[in-house]
Amino acid sequence: MFSIVNPFNKTFLSEHQYFTGAHVKKILQNSSETAENWSSTNVQHRLNFIKTLVFALTKSQQNLAERCSLEMGKPIKQSHAEVEKCRLLCEYYLKNAEEYLKNKQIATDGTESFVTYEPLGVILGVMPWNFPYWQVFRFAIPAIVAGNTVVVKHASNVAGCAILIEELFRDAGFPDGVYTNLLIAGDQVKEVIDNPVISGVSVTGSEKAGTSVASAAAAQVKKAVLELGGSNALIVLEDADLEATVPVAINARFQNTGQSCIAAKRFLVHSSIYDAFMEQFIKGVAELKSGDPMNEDTYIGPLARVDLAEDVQKQVDDSVAMGAKIVIGGKRSNAFYEPTVLTNVTPDMPVFKDEVFGPAVPVVPFDTFEEAVELSNKTEFGLGVSVFTKDVETLKTKISLFKEGAVFINAMVKSDPALPFGGVKRSGFGRELAKEGLLEFVNVKTVYIK
Ligand code: NAP
Repeated sequence: MFSIVNPFNKTFLSEHQYFTGAHVKKILQNSSETAENWSSTNVQHRLNFIKTLVFALTKSQQNLAERCSLEMGKPIKQSHAEVEKCRLLCEYYLKNAEEYLKNKQIATDGTESFVTYEPLGVILGVMPWNFPYWQVFRFAIPAIVAGNTVVVKHASNVAGCAILIEELFRDAGFPDGVYTNLLIAGDQVKEVIDNPVISGVSVTGSEKAGTSVASAAAAQVKKAVLELGGSNALIVLEDADLEATVPVAINARFQNTGQSCIAAKRFLVHSSIYDAFMEQFIKGVAELKSGDPMNEDTYIGPLARVDLAEDVQKQVDDSVAMGAKIVIGGKRSNAFYEPTVLTNVTPDMPVFKDEVFGPAVPVVPFDTFEEAVELSNKTEFGLGVSVFTKDVETLKTKISLFKEGAVFINAMVKSDPALPFGGVKRSGFGRELAKEGLLEFVNVKTVYIK
């Protein structure tokens, strides 16, 4: 039995019991039986259910947004935006999935050759709490549209959101077993992966969860997609338009109270504009409104749990002990951590070398473009980088220098249904979203006719 507590005011929200092994086995069997029929339906048939899901999402938006804000402290406006983004994802695949999944003719020495995309079966999703709807949708919708069924182990602290997602699929009329919530603990995941009905697994979360899931999948020779941590740099070059850059930089670091894998977690600013940048940036940070996540004008909420705020506090305090200076912020009150900016930071400090999953950011000056690239790549992660400059054409010739899954120019790194999303290095492998995400859990079958 475990309880969910509102991180803002510590009020009790609900109590849950993890499913037993026997219950989990039954769910997997049911999902597997459903997969046999679902996989043989055509794409248009499956998309008809997605259309109904869009109605269900819209109808439930208020309830979904509130549950998210209550369970993990996301400011309510941002919770609404997250639900809307799920709708956009559905609409993207409604428009494009049929085209992406159709057979691909290939010219060879045979009379005909083509590639056909077939579903794999039952896919497990292991999901995090930071975007409790968006992460699940971007895994589940393409997998289901491709003809798979899914079982989803969501983060325990958003068990209420997880139940609401399953209800959405039920309300939309999906056959029983296409989408099933698996209320299990992390240590029950291996047993699920070991079950023969599971054909693949997608995990979004920490490196620790990722390596554990990937090892279990590898031992069973099952496909895995890993969306893990990140420590993106945001680089401000000498010629950047500061007026335009600063508001984007603030959003890139502090949106979702800093709890985003693709947040800009290390700012690198050319030394010639460092002071001007800092002046505008600190002013903007000081104006960020913290408070009750249920208030429309709150931008910074509590972190999702007290222990997460304690983790950020430790990373900042340890960096200060090594010589970093706090320019603004630096204090914790229960799950709240103040928006915090640090200077005098070196690459060996925790706020630079580790992922900081909360509202704290180091700002480091550099003198040359080469130095900025070196600092940017000085991390074990490789999700993305943002670079701000007026000279876009020159920067376009240097994209390959960044060891990242994404390079965004004059914009914050964001996920967009139309763009493949994923990382390199210890940020994981595989892609979500776009055509690439739709084709992650399919058998790419070759047909050759002499
Ligand atoms: P987490 O602690 O790894 O949890 C993620 C999921 O994994 C939860 O469902 C969790 O279940 C489960 N889990 C934990 N340990 C496990 C284990 N040993 N075996 C199997 N499952 C396990 O991560 P989080 O704190 O929720 O999320 C923050 C992390 O996710 C950050 O590192 C962030 O960068 C990353 N993230 C990455 C992306 C991306 O797209 N690359 C997107 C969002 C977040 P319980 O809750 O029951 O422990």
